[in-house]
Amino acid sequence: MTDLHPAGDRAGPERALAVDVRGLVKSYSGVPAVRGIDLAIRPGEVFALLGPNGAGKTTTVEILEGYRTRDQGEVSVLGVDPGRQRSRLKSRTGVVLQSTGIDPYLTVRETIAMYASFYPHPRPADEVIQLVGLEDKRNARVRKLSGGQQRRLDVGIALVGRPELLFLDEPTTGFDPSARREAWGVIKNLAALGMTVLLTTHYMDEAQFLADRVAVIAAGRVVAEGTPEALGDPWLAATRIRYRPPADAIPPHGLTAPQGPDGYVEIIPDDPVQAVHQLTGWAIDHGVRLDGLQVIRPSLEEIYLALTGPSSPGGQAGRDRAGDQPGGTA
Ligand code: ATP
Repeated sequence: MTDLHPAGDRAGPERALAVDVRGLVKSYSGVPAVRGIDLAIRPGEVFALLGPNGAGKTTTVEILEGYRTRDQGEVSVLGVDPGRQRSRLKSRTGVVLQSTGIDPYLTVRETIAMYASFYPHPRPADEVIQLVGLEDKRNARVRKLSGGQQRRLDVGIALVGRPELLFLDEPTTGFDPSARREAWGVIKNLAALGMTVLLTTHYMDEAQFLADRVAVIAAGRVVAEGTPEALGDPWLAATRIRYRPPADAIPPHGLTAPQGPDGYVEIIPDDPVQAVHQLTGWAIDHGVRLDGLQVIRPSLEEIYLALTGPSSPGGQAGRDRAGDQPGGTA
């Protein structure tokens, strides 16, 4: 077999990766949807692809599942190229799509048992029901389940065949907060079993709660990647200091700026701790008050919007700057 993964710039044993993607490109009728994505997902990781509508998440995942062809790039899923040997992957992966067609008149247990009959060594139905937290609904008909419970049943179906890798496409879209929490609990259970999980989501908080690592995708490119905590690191420098300056004293140079309409001054210092120290030291020395002093760190939501918004590297303005034209990749 051709070596799909020649020694590259990525450290670590190549074979150990559950998912290895390099330079993935996909266009629809000449319009690029995925523009050169690299991913490295380790076994046992919960990995989130986070991005706004149309970013290219589903296209990427469907290529990994073997449901879509790619135009360019190298893809290995559990050591198999899904574009060439999809049948070898089917029994080793579980797929939870955004909507599935389950017989509404079967009960939860009957549904799981029916899917179990397709596998030589299925996970016992009661174990599956417990994993997805549907013990109370074991004998309920599918049509009587709430949307969140139906989605958990979808996850259960994907678990019946004991997959090594589970694909979850937007597992909580449209859920109310309590259904989201329950779904998150289910996914945490799977992670505790050591399963590798690749999920797509629009929600920063979901990625932050569930994922060991996150790739933020915008306009077909990975614009940031790392642990949820590390994603925020480069942005800590964007910590803002706000205060209302005293009328009768001028703060030191570098710690002041023109007042906004609300009377506040806002600065973005290189070293926020040092700046607060200097500013409060100056105020004490001069016996003045710094009304409304605030130190504001950007939220993860703000970071996400900055990475994926129109003026971000992956947004429309960023693409225009990069000189990309639709149809430029085929
Ligand atoms: P969402 O969060 O809305 O599901 P996504 O990040 O999963 O979005 P994709 O569904 O991969 O994004 O879509 C990426 C781009 O490719 C979008 O511009 C979309 O309109 C386009 N696209 C997706 N599927 C097709 C298709 N079958 N034919 C033509 N264009 C498509």
